Amino acid sequence: MQKIAFIGLGHMGGPMALNLHKAGFAVSAFDLSAEACQKLADEGVAVAESAATSVAGADVVVSMLPASQHVESLYLGGGDGKVGLLEHIRAGVLVIDSSTIAAGTSRKVAEAASKRGIAMIDAPVSGGTGGAIAGTLTFMVGGEVADLERARPVLEKMGANIFHAGGVGAGQTAKICNNMLLGILMIGTSEALALGVANGLDPKVLSEIMRRSSGGNWALEKYNPMPGVMENAPASKNYAGGFGTDLMLKDLGLAQENAAAVRAATPLGGLARNLYAAHSLAGNGLLDFSSVIKLVQKG
Ligand code: NAD
Repeated sequence: MQKIAFIGLGHMGGPMALNLHKAGFAVSAFDLSAEACQKLADEGVAVAESAATSVAGADVVVSMLPASQHVESLYLGGGDGKVGLLEHIRAGVLVIDSSTIAAGTSRKVAEAASKRGIAMIDAPVSGGTGGAIAGTLTFMVGGEVADLERARPVLEKMGANIFHAGGVGAGQTAKICNNMLLGILMIGTSEALALGVANGLDPKVLSEIMRRSSGGNWALEKYNPMPGVMENAPASKNYAGGFGTDLMLKDLGLAQENAAAVRAATPLGGLARNLYAAHSLAGNGLLDFSSVIKLVQKG
């Protein structure tokens, strides 16, 4: 049986690690949060005392951490003399980092891993917490094809779609292109709905008209931002759960950094980042990102 070390057991990592456990892998899980560890222990997953002990004897290491700095300091260590996890991982092991981070950080860590004979791929996901629980995530993979094929049996237990985007870092680039588009789409959809409602239209009727017309998009299909239109959307649950405004803000920031580095023009992506930033500053950072409709709705 393959042994998998899983590090980062938050909203996404917790259910992903649980799906691997249910699929029969010997999972050794770790998170800095005792509460996150306890949730997995309650489900019968073995919890390690530290990241270093979790990777002992592991064939595959999976990480699902918040942002670039967490991934870099976990694997490479800190300026405080803390030893990076790569020093504890034996040569030949495959590392899958599913966190959404800067492509440059993915490349930096993968290069350091490669020097130690450790293969690393970036495999950020789309599909949210619902997809993580259901095991239907979409993985966007950057790395060698052979390493993706080694990872496939593990990824298949957590996701329904697996794409090879290109070399190391390409998974991250695909992810931020997708999320930049999603962030823009959600604001556009919100504006159109708010305009219709301000003119007395029923948001359910207008949503259905646009969904089946040339304005149709994923937000109208699956994630309507107007409360009451879609029973299961975060909008109908006071914007609780789902994909937080601050996480969308992080991804749009990564997109802007990337655009600056390659001198790409992303005017709507830049505007969207600023609108989500203003929305977050107004105290909505933890609400689902579809709550951005509040910026354009009548109070
Ligand atoms: P989260 O904050 O719920 O979980 C992250 C976990 O990592 C926390 O439990 C934290 O304690 C742990 N952690 C941080 N540093 C650690 C370390 N050094 N060692 C061990 N554990 C450590 O975040 P999340 O919602 O699970 O998101 C994880 C990643 O997935 C992010 O990069 C996010 O952008 C991405 N993502 C999230 C969603 C979503 O809907 N939540 C969707 C797609 C992608």
